[in-house]
Amino acid sequence: MDFALARRVEVLPPYPFAKLRAAIAAKKARGINVISLGIGDPDRHAPDVVVEELCRAARDRADPNKDRYGCDAPVAALPEAIKNFYHRRYGVNLQPEQIQPTMGSKDAIVKLCMGLINPGDIGIAPCPGYPTYNIGHTFASGVTYRVRLRAEDGFLMDFDGIPQEVRRLAKILWLNYPNNPTSAVADLDFFRRAVEFGRQNNILIAHDSAYSENTFDGYQAPSILQVPGADEVAVEFFSLSKAFNMTGWRLGCLVGNASAVQALHLVKDNVDNGTFRAVQFAGAKALDHAEKIFTEVNAVYKERRDLVVNALRAQGWTVNSPQATVYVWAPVPEKYHGSSEAFATDLLEKTNVAITPGRAFGEGGEGFYRISLTYPIEALKEALDRIAKL
Ligand SMILES: *Cc1c(COP(=O)(O)O)cnc(C)c1O
Repeated sequence: MDFALARRVEVLPPYPFAKLRAAIAAKKARGINVISLGIGDPDRHAPDVVVEELCRAARDRADPNKDRYGCDAPVAALPEAIKNFYHRRYGVNLQPEQIQPTMGSKDAIVKLCMGLINPGDIGIAPCPGYPTYNIGHTFASGVTYRVRLRAEDGFLMDFDGIPQEVRRLAKILWLNYPNNPTSAVADLDFFRRAVEFGRQNNILIAHDSAYSENTFDGYQAPSILQVPGADEVAVEFFSLSKAFNMTGWRLGCLVGNASAVQALHLVKDNVDNGTFRAVQFAGAKALDHAEKIFTEVNAVYKERRDLVVNALRAQGWTVNSPQATVYVWAPVPEKYHGSSEAFATDLLEKTNVAITPGRAFGEGGEGFYRISLTYPIEALKEALDRIAKL
């Protein structure tokens, strides 16, 4: 028997480049060596000190709660490490009720929507942007209003352009800086304006800081919670995924506005039962060693970034060198007349290199493409050599 999908799943947007994806799969099936630079999932391993702590905690028979539900037996060291990290790194003082560990941001973004959004409520999301914000709104029977991020605004969200009618119905607004896919960064003044917008319109500002620690050349990304009074209207999703090479571990936290943190806590309590204690111990250890880990992780990405940016510029293509994230985001070469699909298809056809067309992140991404730096330098070099022969 085939059971019909629920509407909330049926209405999920299909991947917009099914043809391109099929072409990649077909080439691979024919044994062609396709180099895929599409996905933002670190290729390197989690730090040894973190793996060792995981093993220690998983073996610790003296801990009577070792294998119990993570939510019933939370590891106090984790919120403590989060609090200490936010204080050290940002000068932000978090109260216990402002901290909720998560199973990564993706999961928690959807769960926060389940906890806050009623049918008909609007969620405001950036376009181009990470698709999960919209999915959260949809699963909670809300509606997404997309705000175009424009190159001429440095891909910062233009709050003034959001209509009054939308502001009235909106419950939540999503920001993400350093940004995926555009690699744009925001300064504290931008976050000040975001907090002001939230306060004036009674909208929760949810900042997804997935790449806050993937930064280069001495750049330090601010936290929205550094804005005085931000915790009245803002929360921040911090994640251990990208900066610690720990995507598979599913670990992060939501911090900030206590009522929003409580909303997420209630949903989690009724749905997931929390994170395995050994993973919580390991997360605390990671945060305690954060600065050393970031230095090592970012040195690798910086080398890759410079390689990619220099090689593309040698082609005569326009490329900004990103100060943060693990992506290079650039306008498609002129001869493709702004069609990111035409560029991606041609590149795949002629070089067997796959990149992500900007349009995959929404209409606002059209005219651009994204290369992920989460691949070994040898693979990047080989891909760039092929592109140079194009
Ligand atoms: C990768 C990514 C996430 C997901 O992070 P997890 O903590 O692994 O769920 C969230 N937001 C953005 C913008 C991302 O690129």
